[in-house]
Amino acid sequence: MKNEDVIKISQEVLAQTYGRFPVVLVRGEGCKVWDVEGKEYLDFVAGIGVCNLGHCHPKVVQAIREQAGKLLHVSNLYHIEPQVQLAQLLVKHSFADRVFFCNSGTEANEAAIKLARKYSQDHFGPGRFEIISLLKSFHGRTLGALAATGQERFHKGFEPMLPGFKFVPQGDLAAMEAAISPATCAIMVEPIQAEGGVNLPDGGYLRALRRLCEQKKLLLIYDEIQVGMGRTGKLFAYEHYGVPPDIMTMAKGLAGGVPIGATLATEEVAKSFTPGTHAATFGGNPLSTAAGVAALRATIEDGILENCQRSSAHFMTRLEGLKKKYSFIKEVRGKGLMVGMELDREGKGVVMDCLKRGFLINCTVETVLRFIPPLVITPPEIDRLVKALDEIFSGWN
Ligand SMILES: *Cc1c(COP(=O)(O)O)cnc(C)c1O
Repeated sequence: MKNEDVIKISQEVLAQTYGRFPVVLVRGEGCKVWDVEGKEYLDFVAGIGVCNLGHCHPKVVQAIREQAGKLLHVSNLYHIEPQVQLAQLLVKHSFADRVFFCNSGTEANEAAIKLARKYSQDHFGPGRFEIISLLKSFHGRTLGALAATGQERFHKGFEPMLPGFKFVPQGDLAAMEAAISPATCAIMVEPIQAEGGVNLPDGGYLRALRRLCEQKKLLLIYDEIQVGMGRTGKLFAYEHYGVPPDIMTMAKGLAGGVPIGATLATEEVAKSFTPGTHAATFGGNPLSTAAGVAALRATIEDGILENCQRSSAHFMTRLEGLKKKYSFIKEVRGKGLMVGMELDREGKGVVMDCLKRGFLINCTVETVLRFIPPLVITPPEIDRLVKALDEIFSGWN
């Protein structure tokens, strides 16, 4: 089988919603993946922050194998053992008291939006439903999460958007304060914006939002779908800023590569989700939550966060080195292994050049090269990528 054989059929039978790179990946192990022709790639995309433990982590694979032979699915009409175990772990290691499970990030955000509206109705009566989120944010593709996403290009063609969403720039407290109205029920932010180009908040920003929420009786919602599960060197990105939310969403890396989503909340807020108010057939499914238990345990117990911090320091130093050498690199920024390199030009060509040399990287908002490798990546592997980037960039001068 050749890459081009699969690609030809892919172009005939799949909805063409993705601009795909011309390789067919068939196998993965740790930080490496292989295409159908046997070519090896070092992976700095990790399924866009899904494969934080590396590809086919043995403990996750083992948990899936065991669970698959025991019980694949039962309804949430019944209690599900691994679902309870995963919720217990999440509660133990976060601000949250309760967890609702679903199947993806966008669904986790839908649940968060519904929960915020319901809580507000329960406590303040109707007419208080508005959510303020940030420009350059990304919260998902279903209609509610899309309406919460502060990037017009994703809305185009799908109007009218669900009403009740407003956007302000990240870091602009005056704009946030001005946007709050008697109809506002919550503020929703990614602690660090990922798809928007790796945008970190100023040190005091989340704390100021928290204070504002307390003054105006609003809920603070964090979307940790991409920056959670150890990506930034702590289990959750909000831990860097010491400011917990009322509601938090997770997905991507939560189950080590299996589809899952989760909406976490404090007891006070979660009380508004009463029987019949929300549901998901596959939510908390035995297979995905068994994988989640294995993935979360490995993340906490196997030195993953420490490796992420160490490799991050090495990576940032090496990329700063490139920045000194090439004036078209405007900035290198990031936290843990959520790393961005902003260029003064389009980055798409670099992504293709890297692919040819056996490296998977990604580019967001046209000019920001983004590196989100598995958290088990090592300095020598990072050096291989930096060397390739250096060679590619030196051809530009
Ligand atoms: C990926 C992502 C989503 C959407 O998750 P899906 O599983 O693709 O629906 C939402 N928010 C953030 C921050 C994301 O990175």
